Amino acid sequence: MPSLLEEVESILRHIVIDVLGYSEEVYEVLRVPERVLQVKIPVKTPDGRVRVFVGWRSQHNSALGPYKGGVRFHPSVTMDEVVALSIIMTWKNALVDLPYGGGKGGVRVDPRKLSKWELEQVARGYIRGIVEYIGPDRDIPAPDVNTDPQVMAWMMDEYYRLTGDNSFAVITGKPLELMGLKARIVATGYGVAIAAREAARRLWGGVEGRTVAIQGYGNVGYHTAKFLHEMGAKIVAVSDSRGGVYCPDGVDPEKAKSVKKKTGSVIDYDGDRCRKISNRELLELDVDILVPAAIENVITVENAPRIKARIVVEGANGPVTAEADKILARRGVVVVPDVLANAGGVIVSHIEWVCGRTGDRVGYEEALKKLEAKMVNAIDVVWQLWEAEFKPKNEPMRDAAYTIAVQKVLQAMKVRGWL
Ligand code: NAD
Repeated sequence: MPSLLEEVESILRHIVIDVLGYSEEVYEVLRVPERVLQVKIPVKTPDGRVRVFVGWRSQHNSALGPYKGGVRFHPSVTMDEVVALSIIMTWKNALVDLPYGGGKGGVRVDPRKLSKWELEQVARGYIRGIVEYIGPDRDIPAPDVNTDPQVMAWMMDEYYRLTGDNSFAVITGKPLELMGLKARIVATGYGVAIAAREAARRLWGGVEGRTVAIQGYGNVGYHTAKFLHEMGAKIVAVSDSRGGVYCPDGVDPEKAKSVKKKTGSVIDYDGDRCRKISNRELLELDVDILVPAAIENVITVENAPRIKARIVVEGANGPVTAEADKILARRGVVVVPDVLANAGGVIVSHIEWVCGRTGDRVGYEEALKKLEAKMVNAIDVVWQLWEAEFKPKNEPMRDAAYTIAVQKVLQAMKVRGWL
């Protein structure tokens, strides 16, 4: 199976060369990241041992503004994965009209195996490695898989210790005490729910009563379930890394959350007519809307022909492979791509960054209203281009989204004199 980086590069190549008619050189100019830093993070434990962790920060493109993107802590992170995710961030930020380029970070570490003290040392060590290359107008890290507001607080504080700049705008996703926003936690899932609602509105006139299956019940999966449930949709299946549960009469998102908290997994959810299912089965359920919100490459050429949902909303980054996307498009399945569907988090991060610079505060409701307006607008623009140019040829919505984003970045590169 192609890696995420190969996937991201092949889509970019297709858009730049086949769709927009530019040359191989233009593709290279857009593909190659501006800078990729590798950092060594030595942690000396109180009992005298030294453990070394490796991390990366990929700064893909800064034509539209400072690099912006999260930092993940995961035992299987690779440099290629971080580069791929930074490329995705470039298109995501462009698409929702933020004044940012694309960046992403990662540290190869299993945070579950670290003490809180060691986790703090890894967070601070990571910032020490990249400090010269970040800043409110340079590169603004944020949370991603396995990093949370506490990790962001340590990172912000380390930046302060090293530079003397006590800036609230160098990191987003911070705790409330450090000008973080309450809306940040729910933002990505809320955006995914809006993407599902907007797609359902166009297909069926609304999302009310529509059945939904969600893979992954972490930050994105749970909040997507919560908001779609509030919008009147019926969540019928949820899962996590241990498997899933299918309840034709509906899953209560709050109950699923508390079951997961208590037993460690949503598979222990019980209710009338509920049954345990595998992640594989969940993806192929006969539902209206499918939200893969866990990991990449879960819908491939192998299972794409068996997907029954009419709408797939990519909560995770890269859950549908490029080849699977084409199969789904030919079968009339609408796939709302990650660069559009999961942009809610970075939209609220931008609000937090503005607050960090000005000292103003934005409330929960106001932040979500701004998020909704930006998402609805971006979906409108992408949907219109897709319907006009791509859908008649059975081509994926991702192609329309990338076309808009790539053109925007190219224009900024041109006026800056880079091309
Ligand atoms: P998380 O760690 O909070 O949750 C991940 C969930 O996926 C957990 O429930 C986990 O059990 C489950 N999972 C892990 N492996 C699985 C597998 N093989 N099969 C099924 N489920 C599995 O992470 P998150 O923040 O919700 O992020 C999920 C995805 O969304 C990632 O791809 C991330 O990059 C993307 N994303 C997150 C944000 C954000 O703001 N959190 C923003 C944009 C994109």
